[in-house]
Amino acid sequence: MIPPIANQFVAGESPAVALEHVRHLNDRNVDAICNLLGEHYDERGPVADDTAEYRQLVADISESGLGACISVKPSQLGLDLGEDVFRTELETIVDTADEHDVFVWIDMEDHTTTDATLDAFEDFAREYGGGLGLCVQANLKRTRGDVERLADVPGKVRFVKGAYDPPADIGYSDGARVDREYRSLLEYAFEHYDGGIGVGSHDPAMIDHAKALHERYGTDFEIQMLMGVREDAQYELAEEYDVYQYVPYGDRWKSYFYRRVMERRENLWFALRAVLGR
Ligand code: FAD
Repeated sequence: MIPPIANQFVAGESPAVALEHVRHLNDRNVDAICNLLGEHYDERGPVADDTAEYRQLVADISESGLGACISVKPSQLGLDLGEDVFRTELETIVDTADEHDVFVWIDMEDHTTTDATLDAFEDFAREYGGGLGLCVQANLKRTRGDVERLADVPGKVRFVKGAYDPPADIGYSDGARVDREYRSLLEYAFEHYDGGIGVGSHDPAMIDHAKALHERYGTDFEIQMLMGVREDAQYELAEEYDVYQYVPYGDRWKSYFYRRVMERRENLWFALRAVLGR
């Protein structure tokens, strides 16, 4: 069972509980990006299990009529076992999602996975004519070039600051530098993309920047935030903008919770306060 403190950031262990959470979000005009927790599998068994669960999930989302899509991790789909394994599993999911008209995001993991993830995204996004989105990280020096490459690829792009620490020669570690890069990537995207921009940030300054760019260029965008982080802001923004909440679920919640706490120590106190205030 998920302890209440982690439950602030993870919807529950079963897909049914996750979809119940999605229903509450939809009632407040927020759509969901459902993520079955799992990463870095080194055996085929859990890869096949998660692929099967995602296929069932997209069928359930479609049947329920809920406003939700899914987000998968390459190493959850077997990237550590080989690029061919990852592509085979991803294609199975994308194919089922396409049948059910459910959107599929691909999360971006550490810098060693960027090429394989980008290549797979580009191939499938072109093959399926959209229906897929890719996350890109502002803390990688290469991302500007990747964002330019993605300008004519169908689908969406989610911009995040980056949750992994890249080596100094290929990434930025200074927060102010990452923020500058994030702003600059958004500027490029709002000017050159047809739409499909996901602003994956809780940072009010980045969200204000996106709003101003939307005013200037008219380009469509959506705001994406994590479950348990600035939820009041999510509901408030949803009155005017498209807002998605990333909703993780499943029994492998420990490393995800740990990452949220390491990223921002206040998250621990915030979660504790919410539990105590219940
Ligand atoms: P930060 O730089 O962490 O914070 C900036 C400001 O935001 C703070 O000063 C504060 O004003 C506000 N803020 C932040 N957190 C809180 C809080 N808990 N309470 C109140 N205010 C707060 N990373 C990846 O590497 N790969 C992915 O695939 C990926 N997918 C993501 C999907 C979504 C939908 C989101 C939202 C993030 C994702 N991330 C991913 C994580 C991302 O890279 C960042 O690590 C994370 O979002 C923190 O950066 P930030 O932009 O939110 O702002």
